[in-house]
Amino acid sequence: MAGVVEPAPQLDDSVPFGVVIIGGGPAGLSAGLQLVRANRRIAIIDSNRPRHAATLQSHGFLTRDGASPLDLRRLGREEFEAYPTARFAQAVTNSVERLSEAEALAVGFPDGIGFRVTAKGVRGAADVEFVTRRVLVTAGLTEELPQFPMVRAYYGTALHSCVECDGFEKSDRPLVLIGETSDLFARALLISRFSSDLIVFTNGADTIRPEQEAQLAAIGIRVERREIEDIVGEKADMTGVRLVDGEVIPRVGGFLRPRWHAPIEFLGDLNVDRDDWGLVQVNERGETSQRGVFAAGDIVPPGPQQLIIAAGNGARVAAKLNMDMIRGALGVGVIDE
Ligand SMILES: Cc1cc2nc3c(=O)[nH]c(=O)nc-3n(C[C@H](O)[C@H](O)[C@H](O)COP(=O)(O)OP(=O)(O)OC[C@H]3O[C@@H](n4cnc5c(N)ncnc54)[C@H](O)[C@@H]3O)c2cc1C
Repeated sequence: MAGVVEPAPQLDDSVPFGVVIIGGGPAGLSAGLQLVRANRRIAIIDSNRPRHAATLQSHGFLTRDGASPLDLRRLGREEFEAYPTARFAQAVTNSVERLSEAEALAVGFPDGIGFRVTAKGVRGAADVEFVTRRVLVTAGLTEELPQFPMVRAYYGTALHSCVECDGFEKSDRPLVLIGETSDLFARALLISRFSSDLIVFTNGADTIRPEQEAQLAAIGIRVERREIEDIVGEKADMTGVRLVDGEVIPRVGGFLRPRWHAPIEFLGDLNVDRDDWGLVQVNERGETSQRGVFAAGDIVPPGPQQLIIAAGNGARVAAKLNMDMIRGALGVGVIDE
């Protein structure tokens, strides 16, 4: 039947892969699609814990504006798995170890670079172990929201973290921006494009400088420095922010600045360089400070952290990875591209 793609039979896991991709979000799926289309044997390992699980609609992805993020992932996985050299494993990666040069050469990796990746199956799927020439980390970010008891109840509906993704739907409403990081001023300016009725809550942190506060005041934005006790609401609707002194400031929604964590403990001894925010640093090819380990998507700077940026970055790094393996097989250095 037109439009229905039969999944390919599962690959033999004991045969080495070209790239193992850790994380099956937009970055990993997009990279995977490019690489199977380059005739590479590719395994994607995904633990199915997408960062945007809190939301029902995603915005700004060309041709899919307003789509459910879960549908986007399902479609991406189906497209990837339709290729005969694709393998998708539902599992949590727990280790990545570098093979010795002799081991890598013995399994047929021409440049002597290779890895062993192990992962524990989730939702009834089997544990897996793959040997691979290259590793691409697209594990996204985990978020640490401010510790207010009711914050989760409103996250993804009234409160969001991505201004580019959800600002439009918040136009002209009484909004909050809550955060304790040094980029709060820039984010307040971004939100002011959607609503001038904005209060910036620093929760007691000293992150907005007096001159920045004056600049915000000049465009009608107030900075509230008192500590927050909780987010308040009626049923599903957020109605305000309660401060520790008991005052409730009426607000219907807005933005949080979570702290992010790049969940790459599975790299173990393969320490990769990070920036001041903890994001993984890569060169112009998307390669980390560990030869053969690449990264893409939210986990690398500079963002913005959006679906289409992650997918585009995944595709770009896939092209560089493919060329890196061609160079490695020929034993040559840089090739004009
Ligand atoms: C609430 C919310 C709403 C958002 N709304 C939008 C929107 O409307 N529009 C938009 O463009 N962007 C939106 N975003 C941002 C968007 O979700 C991200 O930019 C995008 O998902 C990043 O893609 P990624 O592939 O880098 O990472 P992710 O999508 O986070 O995917 C990473 C994957 O890696 C897996 N993983 C992690 N660790 C392991 C491991 N050890 N082993 C195996 N798998 C692992 C995870 O389970 C996950 O499936 C939103 C984000 C949030 C938090």
